[in-house]
Amino acid sequence: MEWDTRLIHEGQSPDPLTGAVNVPVYLSTTFQQSSPGVSKGFVYSRTGNPTRAALERILAKLEGGSGALAFGSGMAAISALFMGYPSGSRIVAGDDLYHGAQRLLELSRTHGVRVDFIDTTNLANIRRAFAEGPPVDLLYLETPTNPLLKITDLKGAVAIARKGHSKVAVDNTFASPVFQRPLEMGADIVVHSTTKYIGGHSDVMGGALVVRSRPLLEKLYWYQNSAGGVPSPFDCYLMIRGIRTLGVRVRQHAENARKVADFLKSHPKIVRTLYPGLPEHPGHAIAARQMDGYGGMVSAEVAGGRPAAIRVARRLKIFTLGESLGGVESLVNHPAMMTHRAMPPAEQKQKGISGGLLRFSVGIEDGDDLVDDLRQALG
Ligand code: PLP
Repeated sequence: MEWDTRLIHEGQSPDPLTGAVNVPVYLSTTFQQSSPGVSKGFVYSRTGNPTRAALERILAKLEGGSGALAFGSGMAAISALFMGYPSGSRIVAGDDLYHGAQRLLELSRTHGVRVDFIDTTNLANIRRAFAEGPPVDLLYLETPTNPLLKITDLKGAVAIARKGHSKVAVDNTFASPVFQRPLEMGADIVVHSTTKYIGGHSDVMGGALVVRSRPLLEKLYWYQNSAGGVPSPFDCYLMIRGIRTLGVRVRQHAENARKVADFLKSHPKIVRTLYPGLPEHPGHAIAARQMDGYGGMVSAEVAGGRPAAIRVARRLKIFTLGESLGGVESLVNHPAMMTHRAMPPAEQKQKGISGGLLRFSVGIEDGDDLVDDLRQALG
């Protein structure tokens, strides 16, 4: 089946009891047992809930995993993943991660985990990290990255990690499974902030881990159940509803993002435009190979630095100034003062998160209206 059919039907057959076409919301924390220890598969909602199980089944199918685990936020999913790497482990990670993931890895360092942040857009850096120092247990990647939209060659990175007997986890939030499927390229775990494109309407927080192998899934399930960062049944229902329109939404996001990127790159007040769909983007050729679409995120640097960027962000009328991304409405974010404000200024500078940088989550409004809005704000 093609994507748009799968998104609506896979794992979503009508409820056998009532024929309801939508997955019911099972608002029950506990489930009757016919005899001690004998249940119909569910005992307590942290351990398992039928609505969550439906969401997990769908996510596993879309990413091609043996199973999935849903969480109450992307960070809850990421912390469950990192819980599996105790003192003495080694994690190699990209150097342009979502800042929350970077902070958690910095916390792991204080618990005795060796963490190396490297520029994974160059495979030679990954090779060097694996060749030098103790064995690597986890290679943690994001592609495209937040906020600089850097691209890592997933097949190349997986090949290096395989040789080093390391697991590979990929945060696939920016691409969504419609545009990129890391497990098909050999990764072991896919991470999602489902708060973003999967939910798609800026009204529900969530996260997920989708896992290739059963034994690893079971290990991670142990952390999900033990730490307990699970989503509510209603949140799971909203995620399932979001998934049904994921295909049409991400295509429109990408079409509009392309229009926005083309406009920005030729505007005299824009110093640089970052969008993997632009032929001049350094990761374009790899993105063209490993992605089925370039996504809805565009970053751009405004001439005149921080004051100019703030002025543009405040003058936009259709783009709302706000954090987060992946919802139907367009958002603009000033990473240095918003999503990445906890990062020390020297580190921001070193990474290229300048005062002039704006990150656009291009929504599914009319693309020409979005370009007009940017034109008036930059004018
Ligand atoms: N991963 C990426 C790429 C993100 O952009 C975010 C949030 O912005 C997260 C993970 C964390 O997800 P959440 O905010 O749902 O905890």
